[in-house]
Amino acid sequence: MSLRLYDTAARAVRDFTPLRAGQVSIYVCGLTVQGPPHIGHVRFALAFDVLRRWLLHRGLEVTYIRNVTDVDDKILAKADAAGVPWWAWAYENERAATRAYDVLGTLPPTYEPRATGHVPEMVEMIERLIERGHAYAGDGDVYFDVRSFPGYGELTGQKLADLQPAADTETDDRKRDPRDFALWKGTKPGEPDTASWATPWGRGRPGWHLECSAMAEKYLGPEFDLHGGGLDLRFPHHENERAQSQAAGDGFARYWLHNGWVTMGGEKMSKSLGNTALVDEVVQRVRPVELRYYLVAPHYRSTIEFTEGALAEAGAAYRRLESFVRKAAERGGSAGRAGSPAGESPLPEAFTAALDDDLGTPAAVAVVHEAVTRGNTALAEGNDAVVTAELGSVRAMLGVLGLDPLDPQWAVGGHDPRLAAATDGLVGLALEQRAAARARKDYPAADAIRDQLGALGVQVEDTPQGTRWELTT
Ligand SMILES: [Zn+2]
Repeated sequence: MSLRLYDTAARAVRDFTPLRAGQVSIYVCGLTVQGPPHIGHVRFALAFDVLRRWLLHRGLEVTYIRNVTDVDDKILAKADAAGVPWWAWAYENERAATRAYDVLGTLPPTYEPRATGHVPEMVEMIERLIERGHAYAGDGDVYFDVRSFPGYGELTGQKLADLQPAADTETDDRKRDPRDFALWKGTKPGEPDTASWATPWGRGRPGWHLECSAMAEKYLGPEFDLHGGGLDLRFPHHENERAQSQAAGDGFARYWLHNGWVTMGGEKMSKSLGNTALVDEVVQRVRPVELRYYLVAPHYRSTIEFTEGALAEAGAAYRRLESFVRKAAERGGSAGRAGSPAGESPLPEAFTAALDDDLGTPAAVAVVHEAVTRGNTALAEGNDAVVTAELGSVRAMLGVLGLDPLDPQWAVGGHDPRLAAATDGLVGLALEQRAAARARKDYPAADAIRDQLGALGVQVEDTPQGTRWELTT
């Protein structure tokens, strides 16, 4: 295995050696489902999807766990403001997250546990921490005692003596040290009963950091290979996860990977700043495969400054690759069969070297573009042998990046806004002809148009407000 990855804990690129030969276990922090995801929210899913595809291509078995945080302060507050139950609010946004992951072509995780489904595991972990002298209960809450764990701060290279309480840590006189953080939060007056669970310390709900420790341990065991998440999760979230799990006796993650932010106007994309672009909205005007290319082509640790111009440029660059693949595939040959598994052709060495070097997608994408340049020249010269070879190579490389234009995921009709616009226009055209037939009292012709549309699954209805249509199949 010649893969090298930047490990946040080591602050260096390290050779990656899996704990168990031939298998890789990955835990990635998923979303807190408080609202529909924006581009910044889903970047992590794409970064770790490319990692996973690369490992799979290398012949490794990958167990990939990505959680859903489905109860927390913000979910409770937002659901309350909207006048809906918190669990309905969380579920609706979980579905929006799934939609975003799917539309961008990320492989589904091996399993996607929800925090609310793992309270017994969390309680058990808290009991272990109390028993070992790393946690204490106080009036319904349970806190982690940071001074009891000498390694606290190591993940992010901070010394406990220099550490201030994290910005999101509530000050509370029940704490022995202001830097201690909540493992369990006692229920507060006015909070819904459904958002609390009975424990030896009273009713309450989990602290965010504890959820991930408990779920990672349950599905991946006490020690696993890679822990991933966005850059902003390093502290306090991941520092706290690591402290809890190691204090509870786990080895926990052996490598820590963090992806960079998406910014807009130089600021991290965030709902509170109002500089967001929702995935659901962007894929109405940009093909999802082009959005994926835009987010995957830069290095996963770099910052992406989101602009419409850069998005359009990425779309044009992707269409250049796509155009070659489609033209070359039309020339025939097994390498161009839609849906034929990419990866049958060997990958160019430079591409492999780029991905092995801490998932260097910019260099890998450059190799794809070079192959397309050669392929286009061969197309112009009518050199079929070279066209076929480059087509196979380009599709294999794009397949690893989840960007093969002939992958059924990206088939026309899947989530193509152009197709929706064309359908809308074509049905409109047919309805105009029907209206014209009726105007000249040619009812058989008008009915025939309606019946033909009906046979295509377009149901036409005349209402006092005008003619409506909808797809029935
Ligand atoms: Zn987490």
